[in-house]
Parts: sequence; C-alpha cells; structure tokens
Amino acid sequence: MFTSIDPATGTPGASFAELTAAELETKIQRAHDAYRSWRITDYATRTDLLERIAEQFDANAHRLAEIATREMGKTLKSALAEVEKCAAGFRHYAQEGPAMLAPRAFPGGTATWHPMGPVLAVMPWNFPYWQVVRFLAPTILAGNVGLLKHASNVQGVAAAIEEIVIAAGAPAGLFQNLPIKSDKVAALIADDRIVAVTLTGSEGAGMQVAEAAGRALKKVVLELGGSDPFIVMPSADLDLAAKTAVTARIQNTGQSCICAKRMIVHADVYDAFLEKFAAGMQAVVAGDPMESATDMGPLSSEAQRQTVLDQIAMIEAQGGKLLFGGEALPGKGAFMSAGILVDVPTDHAVAQEELFGPVAMLFKADDIDAAITLANAVPFGLGSSIWTNDADERARFERDIEAGMIAVNAMLASLPHAPFGGIKRSGHGRELGPYGLHEFMNLKTVLG
Ligand code: NDP
Repeated sequence: MFTSIDPATGTPGASFAELTAAELETKIQRAHDAYRSWRITDYATRTDLLERIAEQFDANAHRLAEIATREMGKTLKSALAEVEKCAAGFRHYAQEGPAMLAPRAFPGGTATWHPMGPVLAVMPWNFPYWQVVRFLAPTILAGNVGLLKHASNVQGVAAAIEEIVIAAGAPAGLFQNLPIKSDKVAALIADDRIVAVTLTGSEGAGMQVAEAAGRALKKVVLELGGSDPFIVMPSADLDLAAKTAVTARIQNTGQSCICAKRMIVHADVYDAFLEKFAAGMQAVVAGDPMESATDMGPLSSEAQRQTVLDQIAMIEAQGGKLLFGGEALPGKGAFMSAGILVDVPTDHAVAQEELFGPVAMLFKADDIDAAITLANAVPFGLGSSIWTNDADERARFERDIEAGMIAVNAMLASLPHAPFGGIKRSGHGRELGPYGLHEFMNLKTVLG
C-alpha cells in the first residue's frame, strides 16, 4: 500500500494499493494494444483530445491543487498555478504541435516524424502535475502512449491525472497510472512492449534507470538535479535581483530542480545585495500551505527536511556559516525556516550536492572570471540566472556558463514552448517545445 502523509500535519491521508504482477501485466499489454490504434490517428484526433484534457485541468483545478498540497505540501496558490500551467502545456501542443511535425525535405528525399510506442515516465513529487504533463502532452501528440510510475508520496495526484485523462475521452490504455514501487521499474524498461523511458528525479534514480535503459538499448531522457547559480553583477538592478533571488530560492519550499541555489555576487555589490536579500529571506512566511498569505509550506516530508538539515550541518562542520534560518520549525509538520549560508567550502562534497530546501549559499566573486568559475564548480549543469545590463558580460555568460538554460535579469522558469533540460550530471535530452516532442519520435528518412 501507498499512504499519503500530509507534510503540514503528519496526518495520513488516502491509501493506494500497489498493482499485483498480474495487474501490471494487463496494463502493459493494454498500452501495447492502445498504441496500435493510436499511432495511426490523425493529428486532429490528437489535438482535440489535448484540448479536452486542458479543459479537464481547468474544470478540476481546485480539487487537483488540493490533492497536491495535501500530499507534498506546496502552497495551494502555487498548486493552482501549476494546474493552470498544465492546461497551457496541453494547449501548446494542441495548437502548435502539428507544425513541429512537418516533414523535412532534403536533396533526394524527406524526413518524416513517426511515433515509437509506449513510453514509461518515472516522475517526482515536486511538481507532481507539471512534471507528468511535460511528458504526457507531447506523448499524445506524437502518437505514442504513456505509462506513469509516479513518486510514492503523490499517488493521489497520479490517480487524479489518469482519471481526468479518461474523463477527457482518451481511449483505453492511452495513458495509465502504474502504482508500483521503484523496484519494478527495471523490469518494465526491459519489457519489449515499452520503447523508451523518461525520468525526472535524483542522480541516483537517474543512474539506475539509465543503466536499465542501456542494457535494453532503449532511449532515455534524464532530467536530474541542479545547483543553479544566480549571478549578480554591478550593473544589475539590485532591488529586483534581490527580490527575485528570494522567490527563486524559496519557490516550492526550495524543492525545484531549477531553484537558484547558489547566489554568486560581484564584490562591488555584495554587501548591498546581501542586505536586501537577507531582509527578503527573513520576511518569508512559512506556514499552513492552504492559507493565501503563506509564502512557503512544509518540505515534502520529514525525511526530506532531515536530509536538508543534515546537509546544512555538514556544511557548517566544514566551515560554512548559517547567517540565520535553515532550522526546523517547532510543532507538527515538516516546516523549516528560509536561511542563508556563507563561507561554504566549494571543494567539499556536500557543497557540490543539490540543496533541496529553502537555504541559499552565498558567494562573493571579484570579477566575471571568478563568477563563471564558481558557477561551473559543481557537477550539475541545469539552469542559471544572470543579472547584468552589460552586453559584453551577458555574451560571456551565455558562452561560458555550463548549463542547459540561462535566464537573463529574470528567474528561470519551465515554460511550454522553451526547451528544458541540462548538461553534466543534470542529465541529457530535452523536454518541452519541439525538442521534447521529437525526443521520443522516429525521424524516418524517405529517399526518392
Ligand atoms: P527520487 O529520484 O528517488 O525519486 C524520483 C522518482 O524516481 C520517483 O518516482 C521514485 O519512486 C523513482 N525512483 C527512485 N529510485 C528509483 C530507482 N532506483 N529506479 C527507478 N525509479 C526510481 O527522488 P527523492 O524523492 O528520493 O528525492 C531525493 C533527492 O532527489 C532530492 O533531495 C533532490 O535532491 C532530488 N530530486 C530532484 C528532483 C528534480 O526535479 N530534479 C525531483 C525530486 C528529487 P519512489 O518515490 O517510489 O521512490
């Protein structure tokens, strides 16, 4: 059984039975069968379904948002925004997707896009709807079918997604939720009826899934962790940079792969930035995620909070200094305060890890070279945010920051039309836009 625990109160919620081996087999075969008919549907059939799923997300927004808040603790307002973005994601592929599949002519022939088959998605709890939609919307448009192994703590969300896809009129087997533990994933990847796998989550899970995909010679897209730099140069609008840095660090209680986790600030504006940033972080209101005045709910579980507290303690043991915050809040629930760490030893292993909680690491850089060196001094390469009004500096950052994404004078966000993904240990492949659609399609060369 999977039992949801409300991280704001510690109260158990709904329970979900794990699939038996026979039930799992039935679902895999159903996906295989559904693919045979879905692969030959025309684009209008697929885009109509995408539009209807978007309508279902809109119509059920409040109910869906509440399930996410109760299962993983994000604020209700952010859960509502996530659900709205899901509807936009389906509409993006409904309206702009077919043009992305136009044949590509070349001298002597054409390349045409075709589906590949059932795709398995292994997804995390932090954006429990949006992470799934990033895979599901292009899957449906491509003519593929989808199977979801969602994180154990968001099984209510997983069930709700399946329910609304069915309510939108999807044919049986087009999208199925698989309530299973992660030890069943390798066998699924090895199954001949599943053609590819996409995972969003930790490096550890990514390695295991990639290994299984490698053994089966199947394509895999990995969207793993990040320790994104947020670089502030003297020409930046400091007020806006500091305000945005707070949001970029504490969004989703610090549990986003593209949260700004390391603030790298030019020495000339370091003190001024710190003053503004610290004031913003100290003003963050942690509390009941259902309340509209709350900025930050609990972490997704007590175990997740403990992981973050242990990381902070290890950084402190290595000479890092917590200026304030970064502590468990008393009482029920997995709450902690927003905080800032300075003097973090960059070469220590824990400083190179993803800090999945609302605590920023702050660094001083003497010049742009030092800022870039610091930015690249982690094994990850997911996103980044740079703050400068100097065109030459901007060009340097764009060229030299080791990341899949850069936001300039803004917070990085995951948007339906923008390719999303990383390099280095943040994974490989892209989601969203045309690139996400093409990842799991067969580009068939037709000569003549
Ligand atoms: P995991 O990577 O363990 O979980 C993500 C998904 O992968 C879940 O569905 C999980 O299932 C599944 N999974 C875990 N291990 C395996 C495996 N060996 N084979 C197949 N599937 C697997 O993340 P956690 O929830 O444990 O979080 C740990 C850390 O990962 C965080 O502190 C954060 O640093 C990072 N993380 C990053 C995310 C991102 O967006 N980049 C999202 C979530 C976590 P199950 O829940 O059943 O274990």
